[in-house]
Amino acid sequence: ASLAACSSERDSDSDTKATPGATTGASEGGGLIGIAMPTKSLERWNRDGAHLVELLEDAGFETSLQYADNKTDQQISQIENMINDGAKVLVIASIDGTTLGPVLEQAAAKDVKVIAYDRLINETPNVDYYATFDNYKVGQMQGQFIEETLGLKDGKGPFNFEPFAGSPDDNNAKFFFQGAWDILKQYVENGKLVVPSGKAPKTDDQWTNIGILGWGSDDAQAEMENRLNSFYGGDTKVQVVLSPNDSLALGISQALTGAGYKAGDGWPVLTGQDADKANVLNMLAGKQSMTVWKDTRALGDAVAKMVEEVVSGSDVTVNDTETYNNNVKVVPTLLLDPQVVTPDTVKKDLVDSGFYTASDLGL
Ligand code: BGC
Repeated sequence: ASLAACSSERDSDSDTKATPGATTGASEGGGLIGIAMPTKSLERWNRDGAHLVELLEDAGFETSLQYADNKTDQQISQIENMINDGAKVLVIASIDGTTLGPVLEQAAAKDVKVIAYDRLINETPNVDYYATFDNYKVGQMQGQFIEETLGLKDGKGPFNFEPFAGSPDDNNAKFFFQGAWDILKQYVENGKLVVPSGKAPKTDDQWTNIGILGWGSDDAQAEMENRLNSFYGGDTKVQVVLSPNDSLALGISQALTGAGYKAGDGWPVLTGQDADKANVLNMLAGKQSMTVWKDTRALGDAVAKMVEEVVSGSDVTVNDTETYNNNVKVVPTLLLDPQVVTPDTVKKDLVDSGFYTASDLGL
């Protein structure tokens, strides 16, 4: 179901039509809900948007779903339009969570409630709730996977290692990196993970130096090609790559293929996140070792419920009121659990749960 929904969302990123609301459902005439998503270029946001629309319309709301082509200005004007169209609640997966303060002041002036979706919105009091998968845990799972797969705890090594990080303007990226680094740093320090490119951060905030702005596969590919060309060759092979998500892992695997690395024959351990289709296919082909799966259906379910709670004035379900400080306040958060998927568990986790069909994956 989610794939079909995904392919119906292939309009241009600047589509600004309001999606007509359904006329059935428990809270018929529930009002307009604005959904602002960052970009259509990444598979997961198409799923997230389509799933939210389906749930909210089933519950009797009208929805306006907008994608902003990863452009902050475009996202701000889309949110402005939603406010002017009379949205009751805004669900926002921000591009740069620090740039929405002024537009969210307009929202607050009209008593529009704001739910930060997946990514926290920073530097503003006008964000009411946050729903996300545990971002630190995502990174931890990647770090633990590397630690276990290589036998680092048993003293194995040294291994040639290249770390990557996500987009520095995305609030999630530092949590992903920190979660992984809190596990891997000790092995860089004791020499079991060697970083030929020298790109291991020396302090906690230096991760931004290896962050791929905008999360683009092409940029990750270019960066990996640079590292392979400059620091590898002959007998020096890269053996493990920390990639924070699937779009980066895709570019990295392309660079590896281009440099002559072969699946099953010295292909490095490579992490990911999102269970994007191309990456799941790469896992099945031996070109990616794992992905951290965040079932976007579960996040959508949780947020649709939040919207209903907000609109009906009942208590809003959260389970973390400590972690996500946006520099103005701690935003009450609903945290969901991510899950590791490996080539061996693709069928059980992703097909049996209906996230993909067997034929999507050529199984
Ligand atoms: C999301 C990831 C996604 C990345 C790139 C992050 O904020 O949590 O799921 O891979 O953005 O879009």
